[in-house]
Amino acid sequence: MKKVLRSVAILLLLVACNSITKQASKEQKPNIIVILLDDAGYVDFGFMGSKDLETPNIDALAKSGTVFTDAHVSATVCAPSRAGLMTGIYQQRFGFEANGTGDAHSGDLGLADDVTTMAEVLKEGGYTTIALGKWHLGGTPTDHPNQRGFDEFYGFLTGSRSYFPLENPNEYRMLQHNGKRIAFEGYMTDVLGDASVRYVKENKDSPFFMYLAYNAVHTPMHAKEEHLKKYEGHPRKELAAMTWSLDENIGKLQQELQSLGIAENTLIFFLSDNGGAHNNQSSSGPLKGWKGSKFEGGHRIPFVVSWPKKIEGGGMFEGLTSSLDIFATAVAAATIAPEELLQLDGVDLMPFLIGEKTGNPHKQLFWRKLEETAARSGDHKLIRLDDFGHVLYDLNKDLGETRDLSKERPQELNAILQKLESWEHTLLEPLWVEGRDWMDVTYHVHKQLMTNDTIHYKSPSGMKGYLEKQKNDGNN
Ligand code: CA
Repeated sequence: MKKVLRSVAILLLLVACNSITKQASKEQKPNIIVILLDDAGYVDFGFMGSKDLETPNIDALAKSGTVFTDAHVSATVCAPSRAGLMTGIYQQRFGFEANGTGDAHSGDLGLADDVTTMAEVLKEGGYTTIALGKWHLGGTPTDHPNQRGFDEFYGFLTGSRSYFPLENPNEYRMLQHNGKRIAFEGYMTDVLGDASVRYVKENKDSPFFMYLAYNAVHTPMHAKEEHLKKYEGHPRKELAAMTWSLDENIGKLQQELQSLGIAENTLIFFLSDNGGAHNNQSSSGPLKGWKGSKFEGGHRIPFVVSWPKKIEGGGMFEGLTSSLDIFATAVAAATIAPEELLQLDGVDLMPFLIGEKTGNPHKQLFWRKLEETAARSGDHKLIRLDDFGHVLYDLNKDLGETRDLSKERPQELNAILQKLESWEHTLLEPLWVEGRDWMDVTYHVHKQLMTNDTIHYKSPSGMKGYLEKQKNDGNN
């Protein structure tokens, strides 16, 4: 009898599941677009308060969704930040801690072969997938986007390149389509924007995942003549012009989604891969530090999630959020249950954006690159510099991170140190490091910022000049 009842129960369960699946399949899966910028400053968009850079289309995108005020990338430089975003887990868990891929330091290493990308999961879930623009997750054949879940790759493998055509680019720098060099004319931001428009036109009838990784506004500070003229006399002329191009192209894509009638059911994430750089005229506003630093200016980023069908426009979200959440949010929105073995560090943000949940998606977040480490727990932020020490800030009262509370709040300090230690136990040793010159520069910047002291150099050439001058002054 028991056996019969169990069979009936299983049958009923199967019927119920079947009807749920049928209902879910009736609902069209959303298109998913990640618009990733490079080295953009925290306040360098209209919607983030910029008064001198014009971004009408990006501001409209922000207004169509929710703007996050406490969102962070998982690294303060390009490559590891992208590794975290693409896998949804802390990149240090698979040894991708340092910047640089396919160079003298990392050699053949890049994205570990045994980690799963969000493109792979979405592709398995029936999405067509494309990566556009900068890759920077490895230069060898096994790291190629076409091997990591992307049906199409229209971009370049390296971390930066000219925005204009190069005569004889190597295989990392060349613009390529699925491995084959593309000769192009014009300006890279336009080329990538045009490709994004082409792709949505061609793929409008089935759900697609587009990873749209502009190299703007990373150096070199190349802009179009007409836009340099437009901003003649502007104190940040090149950045203003590059940002204008970026905005035009993001506008083109939005326009295309609208006219194809698919904007409503397209989920868009918009963010920068790290804070503004010291050499691209960017501004961190009230935040301390910049790209490469464990202060907020290095990892707190402008972040927007837009999905008009589900999320009401004009919203603001203050909970602690990570770029690692993009993977989890995207697969949940696509109604794909990733394998249980895939233990993501990110969480699905949708319940927070539709009011089902409140509070912080994360109780704590961690950052580490070689000699510098940081941890966030509630309002407290810890920064640790190897062989130097640590500082503790209360971001609620001191967003600019100037007042070290480590001696005043020993309990909070110990609690956050313990959490950090537990997290570090889950990590691999970095699989490669960076050049000693850049590591020395980064070390110097952290030491000076932690003690609120003068920064003497921000680049290897600056360091060389400073040390030579010190030597000469000493001799005189
Ligand atoms: Ca970057």
